Order: sequence, then C-alpha cells, then structure tokens
Amino acid sequence: MSFDNAAFKQQFPLFQHPENAALVYLDNAATTQRPQCVIDAMVDFYSRFNANTHRSSHRLARQATAMVERVRGQAAAFVNAAGSDEIIFTRGATEALNLLAAGLCANLQPGDEILLSAAEHHANLVPWQMAAERYQLKLRFVPLANGAPAWERLPECVSERTRIVSLTAASNALGFATPLAGLRAAVGNDVVLIVDASQRLAHETLDVQALGIDFLLGSAHKFYGPTGIGLLYGRRRQLQSLPPWQGGGEMITRVTLESSDYAEAPHRFEAGTSSLAAIAGLGACLEFLQGQDRAAMQRYESHLCRYLHTELQQLCLQRPLRLLTAFRYNEGRYSEGRDNVGIAALAPMPGCGVAMADLGHWLDEHDIAVRVGHHCAEPLSVELGVGATLRVSLAGYNNRADVDALVAALASYPWDEVSATAADVEREDAVWPAEDFSSLSLSDLRDQGSWQKRYRQLTRWAGLLQPKPALRLDANRVPGCESPVWIVHRCVEGRHQYLIDTDSRVLQGLAVLLLLLLNDRTGAELATVDVEAQFAELGLEKYLSESRNNGFRALVDFMRARAS
Ligand code: PLP
Repeated sequence: MSFDNAAFKQQFPLFQHPENAALVYLDNAATTQRPQCVIDAMVDFYSRFNANTHRSSHRLARQATAMVERVRGQAAAFVNAAGSDEIIFTRGATEALNLLAAGLCANLQPGDEILLSAAEHHANLVPWQMAAERYQLKLRFVPLANGAPAWERLPECVSERTRIVSLTAASNALGFATPLAGLRAAVGNDVVLIVDASQRLAHETLDVQALGIDFLLGSAHKFYGPTGIGLLYGRRRQLQSLPPWQGGGEMITRVTLESSDYAEAPHRFEAGTSSLAAIAGLGACLEFLQGQDRAAMQRYESHLCRYLHTELQQLCLQRPLRLLTAFRYNEGRYSEGRDNVGIAALAPMPGCGVAMADLGHWLDEHDIAVRVGHHCAEPLSVELGVGATLRVSLAGYNNRADVDALVAALASYPWDEVSATAADVEREDAVWPAEDFSSLSLSDLRDQGSWQKRYRQLTRWAGLLQPKPALRLDANRVPGCESPVWIVHRCVEGRHQYLIDTDSRVLQGLAVLLLLLLNDRTGAELATVDVEAQFAELGLEKYLSESRNNGFRALVDFMRARAS
C-alpha cells in the first residue's frame, strides 16, 4: 500500500463544494475536515437507528448500544489498549483532562506535585491549576530551551513528591513532537503518566501499551472525526481507583435517596447520554484511518512539512518574518526532520511593525485559511517573547500546491507599506493609548488607615492593569527588576506615554501608581514630579522588601530615561 494524496482529498466533500473550489485549508490543528464516510455514518445513525443506548429493550436501542460498544472496541484497537473497557467517550480532549484532573487529584495529599511542560495547551494546564488550588498541590514545569521543552531535563523535574506527569504529545502552537518512546523511562514507574495526544493522532499510530502510558486522550475532530466526541484511554488498574467525575444516569448500578453505587469503568465515567451520532461518526473515522497506509501517510506528511518549513525559511530571508521552527528532537536538540506534526509558526521580526492579524486577513482574502493568535498556549508565546503568531497546520489532504499558494500570497503582501517603529512591535495586542487611570487618585492609597489596607488597595489597582503579552520583548524589559517588567514608551504631541506589563501583582499595583504619576505628561511636568518623595509619603517604602524597592526605583529610572 502507499498514500495517494489526490485520492485521499477526493473523499472530503468540503473540497468538492463549488464555494471551496479555490480554498487552501491550512488550519488543521484547530480542526480537520471530515471525509464523506464520517458524515454518512452520522446521517445513517439518525435516519436508520436513532435511539438511546444501554436503557431500552427495543430493537433500535439494541442497535444503537451495539454500535457504541463496537466503536469502543475500534477505539481500543486504534491505540492498542488491552480491552475496550479501557476506553471512555468524552466530549473531547478538554473534558478528558478535566475528568482526570478532578479524579486523580482528589486522591492526592497537599504538597504533592504535578509535572507539566511550559508548552501545554490551556486544556492541559488550567484544569491542573484548578485542582492544585483546590487540593493544595504544586505544579512544576519542564522548562523550555530553544522554544521547546528541554526533554533531557525531564528526569530531574521528577521529585519524590511527583504523582502525575501530564504532557502534550505534540505542541499545537509549534508542532514539535514529544519523544514519547523514552517518556516512561524518564519519569519512572511511580507516577501516573498522561499524554495529551490531541495533535498527534491524525498523524501517527500510537501504542499505549508499548509506550507505558497510563492515560491518553484526544478529540476526534482533530483526526477527521466529528466534533463533540473524544476518546480517553485509561489503563485498567488506574481506572479502578479513579473516582467518578460527573454523576447522573448510566454511571450507577444502584441509587437510593441517600447514596449510590457506581458502575464499573468505563460506564462510571459516562454520565448521561453521550453524543451518539458523533460516536457513529468516530467509528467510521477510525475505519477510514485504518484503511490508510498510515506509515506511508506519515512519510508523505513529513515530506510536505519539510517542504513547508524550507519554503517559509526562504521567504523569511526576504521578508521581515521569522519562522519559529521546532524540528526533530535528537539527543537533546531539535534539528530538521519529521518530528514535527505538520505545523509552522511565523512571527514578525522585532521592529518590522507588521501585525500578524493583518497577514491573516490578507491570506483570508486569498481564500487561505490559517490561524493567528497564541493558540491557547499563552505561557509558551510569553516565554518565546512573541505575541500573536501565524500558524500553518497541515493534514493528509494538503499538498505542495497549497504550500506554494501560501508562500506566494505571503510574498505578495504589500510589505513596502509596513512602517517600522521599533516600539510598536507586534502591536496587535499592545493597546495604545495606554490605559486611563485618571479616575484613580493618590488619596485612595494615602487615606487607607493601615499598611495592610494600603497594600490591599494596591492589589486592587493591580487588577486594573491589562495583560499585554506583545510587550514582552527583550528590548522592552526593565533591567534591575527581580520580577520581569516590560515598558514601552512613546511621545505624542510632547506628552510621554507608557505601557507596562508584568506578572507580579505588587509590581502591577506599583505600575498603576507610576502611570498615575508619570503618564501623559510633558517633559516639563515630568521634571516637577518627585516620585521618590510621593512614594515615601505613601509609606510604601518601609513595608516593601529591599528587592521590591530596588525594582520600583529601576522602573522610575527606566521611564525617566525613555522620556529623556
Ligand atoms: N490539547 C491540545 C494539544 C490541543 O491542541 C487542543 C485543541 O486545540 C486541546 C487539547 C483541546 O481540544 P478540544 O478543544 O477539542 O477539547
């Protein structure tokens, strides 16, 4: 067998529709298109044997139940689970991760640790943050190196308190594929190992048993299946000790007014009626994938990915763009190759003044679908010092003509009209004019009766400072602050204006104070403001730590230096 891209694409009706004759679809990491067989299976369910499952005794209900359990078996085979009882149907990856975070963390002790990477999708971050807060757990992160987690440092990130390791199998923002084969050995046998395979299942066959994974999950819509359905694999012995997440019908064996007995896995985790037509579509999708020569398909996609990167790299030599590439991971480094699931992310060169959102619109006008943003991986874009990126993501139906169309459209952008102003770098997120704090007054702070009240007032002010990730470039970083702070300055009609961003709550409050004192003033006015005296008068100096005081002085110096 081999992989025939044209024949593959032919099976997707969306590309045959007259409206989409010229469409170049390169937003597959957000969602893939569906082949006709998936659509047919869903229509067939509704038009032939629609009924609720596991409950009624009539023929249609039996047919629907048999379909669901058959698809469960297909899903088990898809990831090589030991049995279909290890497959739970969820609404998608997000729901699966919420189920795991809620269930697994309930069994942990305060101070226990959960290890994630700094490149996770928000779906593999926020549920753990919520559980950590609830159960007083600690989150740790595999640090980044060169824009990807430093996998060789994984063993040293696992401590004796680490209970759960939950990692993405591939970055949705940059495309690097996590080296799954060495994961279990790197984290040891005493932790629960979870793999978020959302971005990997469309491109590669994974074997949960060979990889020693405890839980693996993904959303069907990212591998040619319907929306609203995902699969969660759970190793049998892990599922046995996992408490149920949602309560309701179908997940119980007996209910009294006081208490209930829960069903065995997987039904214990499937409260209520599932998205049955979507399960039918998932079954057709798994059959469809099984019908492909997946190794040949993966080779085809790898070559196309390399072509995409090479062409974009060329373009970046001629246009003020940079490719945030993440290639093959080998002995501690990423180099060129196939360990990228088909994603390329472009960012503007610092100072070029082009907004990625404008490029996205430009491509849309050429009927080329890409995505611009931080791709639900905001901590990663902050770490990389980029605001929004333009993400191109491939699937099996893409081809070189798609890449050529993309590159030609990007090359034809009216680059000459892009005016470069260094401070306005990546300004789509940076919001001039600066926030208006004119309704605040220093007396709001001064009149607080005690230091504690003043501190509380300062943290209330901190909440008014909007996050501005686009500012986070080295050029904007204030030297001498223990916590990172970024400041951008501009002068409009003789008035000095500033944007400030920082994660530190105290510094955010102090930033608002500084903006009150210094923002939108002329040079002459600035010369009359004695910030230090005001600071001392507010009584802040003696209560803040030495490093915070130094940080505050560094901010003032930086702002004054920019103004002069
Ligand atoms: N994890 C990763 C790596 C993803 O890319 C996504 C979606 O983009 C998700 C989780 C969440 O998937 P869903 O929105 O289908 O639940």
